[in-house]
Amino acid sequence: MTYDPDNIFAKILRGEIPSTKLYEDEETFVFMDIMPRADGHCLVIPKTPCRNLLDASADQMTAVMKTTQKIAHAVMKAFGAEGVTIQQFNEAVGGQEVFHLHFHVLPRHDGVRLRPPGKMEEADVIAANAEKIRAALA
Ligand code: AMP
Repeated sequence: MTYDPDNIFAKILRGEIPSTKLYEDEETFVFMDIMPRADGHCLVIPKTPCRNLLDASADQMTAVMKTTQKIAHAVMKAFGAEGVTIQQFNEAVGGQEVFHLHFHVLPRHDGVRLRPPGKMEEADVIAANAEKIRAALA
């Protein structure tokens, strides 16, 4: 399995398609999921190429996990969440649809199920949720 430099997250990293950015550092980038399964659903990716956990280097994993923990705390605070779900899929049969390593961060509330995948959210709702997470990160 090889890395496709034209996958959608590589295009986001190059600024070729828009994203709602929440955070970045030297090694990682965080943005809102456009089809959120919970309010505040966002994605953490490395800035360097790798398909998924199976070909990621130890350094890529370390950087992405550090940022995932930081964002998990931020979404808990931003949404008054009682828990947070972290999801990560590997290869098509493992549920992966975009082939650039990413971790989903999903704030959770008691009794509220994740929404089904595949439904686009309104841009203004995503923008408002992003603002809450940015404020929690500040
Ligand atoms: P998966 O590869 O199964 O972990 O899922 C890919 C995720 O990327 C899904 O949750 C999609 O909603 C999300 N996604 C796809 N395209 C974009 C995009 N242009 N901007 C933000 N999120 C996206």
